[in-house]
Amino acid sequence: MILKNFKELSKYLETSRRIVIIGHKNPDGDAIGSTLGLKHYFDKKGHHTQVLMPNEFPDFLHWIPGVETVYRFDRQNNQCVKALTKSDIIFLLDFNALHRVGDDMKNTLVKYENDFALIDHHQQPDDFEYMYSDTTMSSTCQMIYNFIEMFDDLDLVDENIATALYTGIMTDTGSFRFRSTTSRTHRIIADLIDKGAKNDRIHSNIYDANSHSRLMLLGRALSNLKVLPEYKTAYITLTQKDKDEFNYEKGDTEGVVNYALSLKGIVFAVIFIEDVEQRIVKISFRSKGSFSVNKFARNHFNGGGHDNAAGGRSDVNIEETIKKFTSLLPEYKNDLFSSYE
Ligand code: 5GP
Ligand code: MN
Repeated sequence: MILKNFKELSKYLETSRRIVIIGHKNPDGDAIGSTLGLKHYFDKKGHHTQVLMPNEFPDFLHWIPGVETVYRFDRQNNQCVKALTKSDIIFLLDFNALHRVGDDMKNTLVKYENDFALIDHHQQPDDFEYMYSDTTMSSTCQMIYNFIEMFDDLDLVDENIATALYTGIMTDTGSFRFRSTTSRTHRIIADLIDKGAKNDRIHSNIYDANSHSRLMLLGRALSNLKVLPEYKTAYITLTQKDKDEFNYEKGDTEGVVNYALSLKGIVFAVIFIEDVEQRIVKISFRSKGSFSVNKFARNHFNGGGHDNAAGGRSDVNIEETIKKFTSLLPEYKNDLFSSYE
């Protein structure tokens, strides 16, 4: 755990500040939940707060309280630049290095003259003036709860904050099942329910929001599933053609990789998603047990993340990408077989 210059930060925040809060590109439930949760808290403390996201996010996150105030860097560029220029400090949430916001936004952020504060649970964070980094945490939302607690302000947590934080903890823990879920996570969740989070509604807002075409795309993904029992590995491919056929929308492939991981005896699951517009193959990696997909993604596919969930990309076509991937498996055979299921 790294807690850098926290005393200085708390002193700095004793005065009303203009604060910008940023989540990573292709924001997920934890990125949206943590940025909005922190925004609601800072607003209550008398700061002026603006949340910025690099780009669009899925429909199933569009109900979270305060989401309508978010500016998108790719769409509302002027508003974003204005907010950044006027701000006293920038909070970076749920990502570990500036490149995770994408090149356009990064190029603006590297010119920023005031300080950054990072709150994040990914491995190998870059260095910033203020930092709260803890890779053992289930989610950045859990860290925002801790952060509010460090300020002795848990009594300020209201329904909006509780709802935002509950959402990110739920999505990043796979509904409280991943290894990062601790008794402390459950205690925080219990407190968030006490403070107004409607757990049943949050679950159905997120998980019962499928369109018919999304389920059809899932069907295609499952029929494209390949199982390699000799490496305890399973992978799914989705081509641009598959996506176009089922009117792919942002978020439609979220969680699909977990179906591959749900196979008995499989410890390593991957999904390759072709993106013709960006000319890349986006890859999600998941594992059970000790096999580190963070290392795998870092070493071979320009990515990273956590030990059991990571992402990456490939700049060659989908066939070449899969060839490269399968050719790597033999050197990991021992690691894959010593990982528990
Ligand atoms: P997903 O597969 O859902 O896109 O990402 C899984 C996890 O890995 C998330 O925590 C995400 O933040 C992280 N991740 C995804 N892509 C990248 C990447 O390119 N670089 C790094 N460092 N982390 C990533
Ligand atoms: Mn997260």
